[in-house]
Amino acid sequence: MSDALDTAAKPIKKPKRVLPERYKAYRGVWVFIEHEHGQVHPVSWELLGKGRELADKLGVELAGVLLGGDDDGVRALAHEAGAHGADLCYLARHPVLHDYRNQPYTAGMTALVNTYQPEILLLGATTQGRDLAGSVATTLLTGLTADCTGLDIDPSDRALLSSRPTFGGSLMCTIVNLATRPQMATVRPRVMPLPARDGARTARIVEHALSLDEDAVVTKVLDFIPDARADKPQLPFADFIVSGGRGLGKPENFELVGRLARTLGAEVGASRPAVHAGWAEAERQVGQSGKTVRPKLYLAAGISGAVQHRVGMEGADVIAGINLDPAAPLFDFANYALIGNATALLPALDVAFARRLAAARARLATPTEEAV
Ligand code: FAD
Repeated sequence: MSDALDTAAKPIKKPKRVLPERYKAYRGVWVFIEHEHGQVHPVSWELLGKGRELADKLGVELAGVLLGGDDDGVRALAHEAGAHGADLCYLARHPVLHDYRNQPYTAGMTALVNTYQPEILLLGATTQGRDLAGSVATTLLTGLTADCTGLDIDPSDRALLSSRPTFGGSLMCTIVNLATRPQMATVRPRVMPLPARDGARTARIVEHALSLDEDAVVTKVLDFIPDARADKPQLPFADFIVSGGRGLGKPENFELVGRLARTLGAEVGASRPAVHAGWAEAERQVGQSGKTVRPKLYLAAGISGAVQHRVGMEGADVIAGINLDPAAPLFDFANYALIGNATALLPALDVAFARRLAAARARLATPTEEAV
């Protein structure tokens, strides 16, 4: 065996974790509650679910953090944070915070962190969350692990263990912030399960006054123009997804995926090669550099199940695969394996499901004897 291999086999010596004295009082787990026009992004509730677990392991409180304008009902959102597991909610309201802008939100969030000193701060890996997390981390001079797929606590030293794919998704790594607080992480929507809502739970509200000046903010919001494409794919929140990959061979065959999806009322997903071939829009790509999904059923046709695809869909309740190759990696973690040619099996499933659904609809439309 070569020296290099010999060395690699030895356990890695972990660096000694020395947390500077000034951070030792930092306590509590915080989740940034992202909202726009009164609507909370569901990733915030998903993070409260994970945050609850982390806070319980650390024996500390779980807090939601809400920033917003005076008039936009953010107080009501704080109660919703309680229903999703928060013990308390920090609330900073100011007219300057009415619409999300990086500069005042960074100022507000860093002021809250410096005042109340949480040990962990979690944000959604959304457009807004990514924008805010980066500037808050650099302003506070603390570490940030982006796009985590797993979060846990090391009980020996209360450190946040942030796991995420690395080296192009071929390895998983766990990142630990040894020297600063808060420990920050972002997580993509649908990576963590949504916790059950408990309407009887309430959160204490801690109002924090911020002094912000509109004149000092360099970006101005002139208008709000909703996304014109109301029909754009909603993959992350779909209950049923039929997805196609390179194995389908040509665009006409990829059409079979769309046909079955329409019959089932499902969304269409795609692997990266299928998107690169132009068979599906980029918004339909599932995986490490696409969307993370968590449907009730994920049916993958002509997809091998490479790890970069797997990380985006393994949270599905049921995974079924259609593949010519019984040794395809997808079958290592799928619940159902259909071994065969997808160009024959997709239309066969379409016919079978259409017949079943038509029969079910007919049964529902026929009044039963009791109803008569
Ligand atoms: P293939 O791996 O070529 O698999 C095709 C499968 O179809 C095979 O298993 C074959 O047996 C089967 N097949 C062939 N013909 C038929 C037939 N007639 N009927 C049924 N089965 C058939 N990939 C993603 O999907 N999403 C990502 O977000 C993503 N991000 C990436 C990020 C990085 C940094 C890198 C390096 C790669 C990324 N990839 C991603 C690419 C990934 O590594 C794989 O190359 C990709 O997922 C493979 O796509 P596929 O399964 O469609 O194709």
